Amino acid sequence: MAEIIDGKAVAAEIKQKIKERAERFLALRGRRVGLAVVKVGEDPASAVYVRNKIKACEQCGIASSAFYFDADIEQSKLIELIHTLNADANIDGILVQLPLPKHMDERAVLAEISPEKDADGFHAVNAGRLFLGEKTRFVACTPRGIMELIRSTGTEIAGKRAVVIGRSNIVGKPIAMLLLAADATVTVCHSKTKDLKEITKTADILVAAVGKPKLVTADMVKRGAVVIDVGMNRADGTLCGDVDFDGVSKVAGHITPVPGGVGPMTIAMLLQNTVDGAFDE
Ligand code: NAP
Repeated sequence: MAEIIDGKAVAAEIKQKIKERAERFLALRGRRVGLAVVKVGEDPASAVYVRNKIKACEQCGIASSAFYFDADIEQSKLIELIHTLNADANIDGILVQLPLPKHMDERAVLAEISPEKDADGFHAVNAGRLFLGEKTRFVACTPRGIMELIRSTGTEIAGKRAVVIGRSNIVGKPIAMLLLAADATVTVCHSKTKDLKEITKTADILVAAVGKPKLVTADMVKRGAVVIDVGMNRADGTLCGDVDFDGVSKVAGHITPVPGGVGPMTIAMLLQNTVDGAFDE
């Protein structure tokens, strides 16, 4: 049976260290590390995420400033706020909760966030730095958390074969880049990939970031593999991953549960990005 990777426990350890660094920052600079959280509209899932992020800031001694707008706010007003926050010396990180309402151009809005305050790591400058293999303070939170989870298993990444299912800008592509930077041999699969099973079966490290419940079954997994399930699929009021946990845990060496795996790490990494940004200002 696979060892379960306890994302909650790993995140709690990281948050404790973030709290200590935030206290050190306060002592050194005479102000708290500051994160601005911007939410537009009434998407219920976004409301939960924003609440959790603000709560996590409180736990770690980070000052959060929340800005909530009605769904029909003009894009120019939102950009105006982002410019104000970019110039605010008390703000180290800016997070615009996605998705934005349909009338807005998400890319255009995110591009207005200063790359030096890009808490989510979605700005083209930071994504580009990651692609170029350059050091960047701001790496997309979920992929950054996945790397911590893989490392928590004690697995040596260098030289391993890693397969990522999914090529989104927020998970699939950046985790592929991080694994490559850690010297894994990386294959990225997507909806047009042929013979998915033949590829996933070669993976020592398998990351599923698809959004399809139980897509990954035991017959697709190499014995002893590290399996990271990013999927968060809601059905009948329950949350389920992209991996068939019951079947795959009989084959894998390590596996993340859903919930309690990747999810808790995403918020921890948001705080980590913000504190890193504050110290390097
Ligand atoms: P996304 O933008 O919808 O991307 C999904 C990817 O999966 C696409 O690249 C798509 O391929 C690929 N795909 C779809 N069907 C496939 C199939 N049958 N076989 C192989 N690949 C397939 O999703 P995302 O934003 O990356 O999120 C993925 C999942 O992770 C979702 O469940 C999301 O809720 C979850 N998530 C969780 C966290 C967390 O903190 N735990 C954070 C972010 C996302 P194409 O490119 O060809 O369309």
